[in-house]
Amino acid sequence: MAFTFENPNIFANYPLDRASHLRTDAIGLDRMAGDANAFVIPFWKLKPLALRGPHGKEAGFLAPGLAEAQQTPGSPRIFLGLDKKQRPYFAIDISAAGDPENKGPLAGMGAFEDLRVLAMQIPADDVAILGTARSLLDWHENHMFCAKCGQGTAALDGGFRRVCGDCNTEHFPRVNPVSIMLATSGDKCLVGRGKQFPPGMFSALAGFIEPGETIEEAVARELYEEAGVKVKSVTYYSCQPWPWPSQLMMGCFAEAESEDIKVDENELAEARWVDRATMKAVIAGKGPEGFWIPPKLAIAHMLIKAWTEQG
Ligand SMILES: [Zn+2]
Repeated sequence: MAFTFENPNIFANYPLDRASHLRTDAIGLDRMAGDANAFVIPFWKLKPLALRGPHGKEAGFLAPGLAEAQQTPGSPRIFLGLDKKQRPYFAIDISAAGDPENKGPLAGMGAFEDLRVLAMQIPADDVAILGTARSLLDWHENHMFCAKCGQGTAALDGGFRRVCGDCNTEHFPRVNPVSIMLATSGDKCLVGRGKQFPPGMFSALAGFIEPGETIEEAVARELYEEAGVKVKSVTYYSCQPWPWPSQLMMGCFAEAESEDIKVDENELAEARWVDRATMKAVIAGKGPEGFWIPPKLAIAHMLIKAWTEQG
């Protein structure tokens, strides 16, 4: 099968060289982090700094020496890689700072913003870097202790490994695979409303892939469990890294055997078939009153959009 890096999704297309061979050189990383050409992006409570630039918001890639004084004690400095000019990028956590937008060295520079909102306002390349940083910072925050023996762990390798100080077990950042699928039947596609969704929002169905499952099996199982829909075939579309906290959303189309629906009320409030003309109108922002889908930030939007373009 052909392989391509082309990917339509926000958070995909990581622009840096991850340079993983440099991660084990702690002294080299220290030297790079102090290099005048390096960039350091601070996160506060998992929100990246957004600067007020001359043309609007910008990702808060700072020169070294500005944010480090507020770094949370014991938190790692994440090495994110090198850009095309070989400039290193790092992320640090400054959550222990009380009010960094208004006090201390970053006061007045900008705001710490929810990445879901900021992602729609800054260049896609920067979004991919911030998403990776957010996933890793979240992982460190939640893996301070060894899953095997319960003792403390310490970060190594530029933030891409933790090791238990007691039993020496190694822990690596996790990526959790999720299948997300648009079932289709001729000129209709199936969308559902999760019980926790805002009123009127419908999306592609989705679920975690379980141990021992293929992507296709998870697609078929989720559609049957949540909506009672049996599928004939599954086609892979594209995937999206999703940093809440660290999912890989694997988008697929699934051809349904029939349009019969039997909703699992524990999972969904409602599921319905929607025709292509209506979905085209929804994508164009001219859909029916009280019916909407996730923004293009989400692979669900891109799946639905790609399907409307097929016919
Ligand atoms: Zn341990």
